[in-house]
Amino acid sequence: MALTEEELSRFLAETSGKKVQLRLNSNRQTMLSVRPSPDGRSARVSIHRVFLSAGPEVLRAAAGYLAGPSASDRRAIKDFIEHKVPELQRQTVSTASLRQQRGTSRGKHHNLVPQAQRINEQFFGGSLTFHIVWGRRERTGKARRRHVTLGSALVLERLIRIHPVMDTPHVPQWFLDFVIFHEMLHLYIPPYRTAGGRNAIHSPEFERIERLHPHYHAVRAWEKKWVWKMMNAWEVGTELPRRALVDFQPPALAESYRAPWLPPPAPVPPPASVQPSREPEAIQQDLFGDLLS
Ligand SMILES: [Zn+2]
Repeated sequence: MALTEEELSRFLAETSGKKVQLRLNSNRQTMLSVRPSPDGRSARVSIHRVFLSAGPEVLRAAAGYLAGPSASDRRAIKDFIEHKVPELQRQTVSTASLRQQRGTSRGKHHNLVPQAQRINEQFFGGSLTFHIVWGRRERTGKARRRHVTLGSALVLERLIRIHPVMDTPHVPQWFLDFVIFHEMLHLYIPPYRTAGGRNAIHSPEFERIERLHPHYHAVRAWEKKWVWKMMNAWEVGTELPRRALVDFQPPALAESYRAPWLPPPAPVPPPASVQPSREPEAIQQDLFGDLLS
């Protein structure tokens, strides 16, 4: 059962003990913002409409924001927003403007979807749902752009855009894969607002996991040496030299690779009719035998 705006306002005021000036918004960037008055006795609250249908626990957590939220308030709000994302996402995705913005996942040289699916399996246990497309940046015809963003992730829209500069034959697949991985990691560890009011986008947790990617160091080295050359070549419509393709090349990941932060896959139980024929110790020894041979 949903509340009215007035009921929500009254609930927040009574629970927090403050005077509340409430404004409902439909802006997914500011789901909940609180501006306390200097004397701390009242607060201006801007809150997403979706909170009208929140349960009592979430509403109590929202009221907690008026006084300074506890860790559990933050968690309750974050869980609620994430839970509501698919609903909000449907609303957004059905609009024509986003569909137009979307573009295509099939480039001239790289199809992003199969790559992203494999990365999803290997690094995120297949847990992420999203769209991935090539961005539509136009060439300027001039070298030396001042800023480079190889990919972007809209967390609530679940939309990843990859810069078309990498849709060329001499950019290594493993480099492109890492850019895709980085953007997917933004969906896995969404940005959050810190206590100081800043947006933590590349949070310490984000960076810790990113560094665990087996290609991390090769990617950084390649990036340092080739990214500007790649951008400049693309702007003027030329190609990177062939050697860019093999520079710093790390060993390829096995098809069966699973990221170290994922839980191990559930063991496949033996068929009920087949009894293990050997003692565990014997099996252990065989494993070692395999490794040593
Ligand atoms: Zn990033």
